[in-house]
Amino acid sequence: MDLATDNAPAPAIVHRDLRDSIRTIQDYPKPGIAFRDITTLLADARALRLAIDRLVQPFAGTRIDRVAGIEARGFILGGAVAHQLSCGFTPVRKKGKLPAETLRQTYALEYGEDEVEIHRDAIEPGDSVLVIDDLIATGGTAEAAVVLLRRAGARIVGAGFVIDLPDLGGAARIRAMGVPVHTLVAFEGH
Ligand code: AMP
Repeated sequence: MDLATDNAPAPAIVHRDLRDSIRTIQDYPKPGIAFRDITTLLADARALRLAIDRLVQPFAGTRIDRVAGIEARGFILGGAVAHQLSCGFTPVRKKGKLPAETLRQTYALEYGEDEVEIHRDAIEPGDSVLVIDDLIATGGTAEAAVVLLRRAGARIVGAGFVIDLPDLGGAARIRAMGVPVHTLVAFEGH
C-alpha cells in the first residue's frame, strides 16, 4: 500500500472529562446530600488511568517516601498513586482497625466526633508524605490525617483528591495548614 495515498484520518484524541464518569446519588446517605460515587470511575479503565495520572502529575519529580490513603476510597486511589510514584503506602484508618500500636487523632463531625489512626511505626521522622482521598468536603478528615502524620514526623508535601466540594471550604482549610492541595473535578453544593 502506498502510504502517501492513505488518507484515513488519524484517530481523534479523546479529551474526557472525569466528571462524566462520577455518578451522583441524590439524598444519600441522608436528605439534602448529593453523594458523589466514584465506583463508576473505578470501573472505567480509561477514567481510572486518567484520574491516577492526574493525581500523580503535580508531584512527578518531587521526592515522596509514602502515600497516605484515607479509608476507604483513599486506599484504592492511593495504592495506585504509590505504585506509580514507586513509593510505599500508609493506610490512615478509622479507629480500632489497625493491629499494632497506633497513633490516634480525634476530629469533629457534624454530630459528635470520630478518630483516625496510623501505625506508630508507619512513618519515619522526616518522611515526605502525599495524602490521597477521593473527595474533600469540609476537610475535617484530611485535616486530622495531616495532623496525625505530622505528629509521626511526616513532612506533608501535598494532598490530592479527585473531587472538591469548594462550597464547603475543605481545600482552603488544608492549604491554610501549609499543604499544597490538588483536585481534579469540582462540584457545587454538598
Ligand atoms: P470531609 O471530612 O467533610 O472533608 O469529608 C470527606 C470524607 O467524607 C471523604 O472520605 C469522602 O469520601 C466523604 N464524603 C463527604 N461528602 C461526600 C459526598 N458528597 N459524596 C461522597 N463522599 C463524601
